[in-house]
Amino acid sequence: MGRVNRAVFSDFDGTITAQESFVRVLEIFAPEESRRLIPRMYDLSLSLREGVRLLLESIESRHYPEMLDSVSRTPLRPGFEEFLSFLEDRGIPFIIVTGGITAFVRATLGPLEKRVHAIFGADLDTGGPTLKLHSDWEAGTELVSKPLVLETVRKVLPVDLPVIIGDSVTDLELSMACPVVFARDRLAGYLDQRGRMYYHYEDFMEIQKIFQEKILR
Ligand SMILES: [Mg+2]
Repeated sequence: MGRVNRAVFSDFDGTITAQESFVRVLEIFAPEESRRLIPRMYDLSLSLREGVRLLLESIESRHYPEMLDSVSRTPLRPGFEEFLSFLEDRGIPFIIVTGGITAFVRATLGPLEKRVHAIFGADLDTGGPTLKLHSDWEAGTELVSKPLVLETVRKVLPVDLPVIIGDSVTDLELSMACPVVFARDRLAGYLDQRGRMYYHYEDFMEIQKIFQEKILR
């Protein structure tokens, strides 16, 4: 049997980070709009594409350095660095696909960024009076369509078995399309409602153990 090419596609906020840093930064810098719009994104009555844009574009660009500073202090979920080493040793690419902003991911990862194969997400233009959101990955209701990212990655990287790690609504579409999913929090609830199987995790030690026992067999 030939080699199976595996690649990990991981969400960032609430997945690699121990807390939802993106939602928190929106709540700090766009409090009114957050109170109004975030619950509607969670109950799926407002698309992420519309909701995240409305929120971010209501924030003045002068707040951007404070936003970066705020997200960069978010703690990571235990076992993350060890899991990166585990994958590196086995030649398995680790790709971050965030429903948020790539610069926020880079600010939070610091030197660990070099050990990640690629980071996909939306970007902010800070040149005008208010932030302007830009995404190369918009599709349907999604600001960052994770299935579209997977499809694009597959054009340059052989991926027989994508392994998904996520925690919330931005991971739902990709999780429904892929056979191996690690889920916690809201994502686990959405998958339960839809009768989809997943591995539950709370930290990267648990993910690594299941990876070793079930996915590398
Ligand atoms: Mg998340």
